[in-house]
Amino acid sequence: MQQRFPWLQVDDLALASLGLDGEGWFDGYGLLMAFKNKARSLGVHYVKAQATGFAHSHGRVDAVTLDDGTQLPCDWAVNAAGAWARPLLAGTGLDLPVYGRKRCVYAFSSPAKTPDCPLVVDPSGLWFRSEGDIWICGLPPPQDDNDPPLEVDYNLFDQAWLTLAHRVPGFEALRLQRAWAGYYEYNTHDQNALLGPHPALPNLLLANGFSGHGLQQAPAVGRGLAEWLVDGAYTSLDLSPLSVQRLVEGRALLEKNVI
Ligand SMILES: Cc1cc2nc3c(=O)[nH]c(=O)nc-3n(C[C@H](O)[C@H](O)[C@H](O)COP(=O)(O)OP(=O)(O)OC[C@H]3O[C@@H](n4cnc5c(N)ncnc54)[C@H](O)[C@@H]3O)c2cc1C
Repeated sequence: MQQRFPWLQVDDLALASLGLDGEGWFDGYGLLMAFKNKARSLGVHYVKAQATGFAHSHGRVDAVTLDDGTQLPCDWAVNAAGAWARPLLAGTGLDLPVYGRKRCVYAFSSPAKTPDCPLVVDPSGLWFRSEGDIWICGLPPPQDDNDPPLEVDYNLFDQAWLTLAHRVPGFEALRLQRAWAGYYEYNTHDQNALLGPHPALPNLLLANGFSGHGLQQAPAVGRGLAEWLVDGAYTSLDLSPLSVQRLVEGRALLEKNVI
């Protein structure tokens, strides 16, 4: 590590791993727009509105209700409302262990040089990576509340700075440039996606609870749910280990590496 990344302080580390291929980062918003535009070109009709819930009878969803009172009748409904998936189910009497957990991202500049900087995850939970001429970083908050207000926690950056300067001595000099806050759609049961039909309303498909790692799973999830809608089963990748049934049976598929 010291040879490959001379800017890294490694004295207190016994072991590290480095992915040399099949890893990296990309513009998440760009990916979303690419999917959206492709869907539009294939005839998908987007409605800009606030969904308020699902009208249902006899164990099936009949329609999605909107805040202007409109009902959109449907054969199938998909709840893909991210950190807001749980309140959307309230009218059905169903509950989901999915809550918004705030994560802040801090962008900083520094005179430090970190050539070939990968995404670095420190044992403390802090992560950082380069972003052009600057760096971005984040870390879990000391207390993780459910559905807190989405304000940037600037005090937490002081904590981040201590760890950054310890791991990369060059980061002792840095300047916070900007910051933003977002929600992890956190599945408190086992921190993994809840995917596919809800056992109590089988024509309601869930794509929820990704717990902060949903972007990398999005292409497979989209394809899997499309297969379910068209073929009634997952055909290319078996996503059934992520089924909601594990909640009913009290099983967990624990994700230990949420950063
Ligand atoms: C700081 C941060 C860093 C992250 N880093 C990574 C990463 O490195 N890798 C990774 O894989 N993932 C990462 N994630 C997680 C990733 O962004 C999410 O897992 C992913 O966006 C979840 O996708 P989704 O479609 O389920 O929900 P979202 O992307 O939240 O989309 C839900 C959509 O539903 C809309 N919506 C909600 N309620 C309603 C309603 N009632 N009516 C109409 N529309 C509604 C919302 O406006 C939103 O557009 C990160 C998240 C954060 C916050």
